[in-house]
Amino acid sequence: MRRHLPPLLVALALAAACSPGTQRSATPTTEVTSETTTTTAGPTTTSTAPSPLPLAGPQAATGPCPAVPAQAAPDPDRPTYTMSLRLDLDDNAVEGRLTVRFRPDLSTDRLVFRLWPNGPRPAAAGARLEAGPVFLGAPVPVPTEAPDPTTLVVPLEVPLAAGEEIEATVPWRLTLPGASNDRLARQGDAVRLGSFFPVLAWEPGVGWATDAATSAFAESTTTPVADFSYSVAVPDGLSVLASGVRDGARWRADAVRDVAISVGRFRSAEALTDTPQPVEVTVGVHEGLDDDPEVYLDRVVRAFEDFSRRFGPLPYPAYSLAVTPGLSGGIEYPGHVMQGPGTTGRTLSHEVAHMWFYALVGNNQGADPWLDEGLATWAEARFEGTLDDVVARSIPAAGRERVGEPMTYWESHQGAYFRSVYVQGAQALAALGDPDAVDCALRHYAATHAFTIARPADLLDALRRVFPDAEATLAGFGAL
Ligand SMILES: [Zn+2]
Repeated sequence: MRRHLPPLLVALALAAACSPGTQRSATPTTEVTSETTTTTAGPTTTSTAPSPLPLAGPQAATGPCPAVPAQAAPDPDRPTYTMSLRLDLDDNAVEGRLTVRFRPDLSTDRLVFRLWPNGPRPAAAGARLEAGPVFLGAPVPVPTEAPDPTTLVVPLEVPLAAGEEIEATVPWRLTLPGASNDRLARQGDAVRLGSFFPVLAWEPGVGWATDAATSAFAESTTTPVADFSYSVAVPDGLSVLASGVRDGARWRADAVRDVAISVGRFRSAEALTDTPQPVEVTVGVHEGLDDDPEVYLDRVVRAFEDFSRRFGPLPYPAYSLAVTPGLSGGIEYPGHVMQGPGTTGRTLSHEVAHMWFYALVGNNQGADPWLDEGLATWAEARFEGTLDDVVARSIPAAGRERVGEPMTYWESHQGAYFRSVYVQGAQALAALGDPDAVDCALRHYAATHAFTIARPADLLDALRRVFPDAEATLAGFGAL
């Protein structure tokens, strides 16, 4: 059951969302916000002190499911991003500036930012991200290298020791593409901004993730969780739905591996989930679309409640879903999901499942795309009651027993990608045995590997607690 926001919370949310000159509809579920936040010049100094996250405690054994440990805490030395950005539709661009404080757990002689808008798919649609010059705490910029369009390397004159902090400031400018069926798009005044700013691609314990960009409707990103504080300025009359929680003129998102933003003229609906850690859910449907935000809201809340029981509580306080035109299916980011019209079915529950498998427990999406897609499909299939159908689907020869292949393999087998990775990933879990026991193992996985970048061996460890022969089962699907 969903709970509507208490009246006080609604009032606070609306007050926080409104700035001087705002026009607001009298309808409680409709919010038209005029954003007048201005982009600050120079490095921002806003505090980025993380707020404590409500981590789940241990769970006692239930039947055959062993006791689940307390949720692992995020790395206290995680990066902090302070960012400001301004959307200018006349200029068809977003101007931004970020300052990131980074403390690697291994020594390194460089910083590596990924510039995903320059990947094949968004670039072909007209997107372009220009980043730099880069400042490392001094007024004179430092030299950079661009080994490929999606990679910006900042060589360090003096290598950074493990545990040593560095601060980098990077101004950037994103040229918007047109009406692309993708995470970066502009259709009229509806704008999707996903994977849109220079982001540090550090994998703790491993180093820089330099996986190649993919041309598929997919991603090959790897990022550690970080704390984000950012401001978004948009033209009058447009609203923002984004990752995190709005706090006055800024948005905060703590211990997340990315942030994303949708801009439009939204009819919205809001509710709180009835879960151990309530999640404030906001659904916005861009004007001109017939979709009913209340229909999405009901199903999102139900999915959160189902997955919280199955995979453990989620520590993030907010989830927003923007339905915008020109998108088929959905695209997930931590706390913010983009969906196209007519997606109240499996797309919706699949994207909510990504809040556990991708957002909370991360993975290298270039090396191990099945870890988040297979698990999200498993979660979705049980929620939708379609597990039998998923198990019965045939897998193309190019992908059969190859669920664990990286995106570089699927780049030349894109026609087989969905069934081989999404469907076959769920089939691999189904082959283990009792579905409730699979969910039990995934509760262990989510608790033990929360806030990390997991590898297939980590999933195997969790599955073995419940299924001693899990290794042979997964190996049969090419997962290991
Ligand atoms: Zn997915």
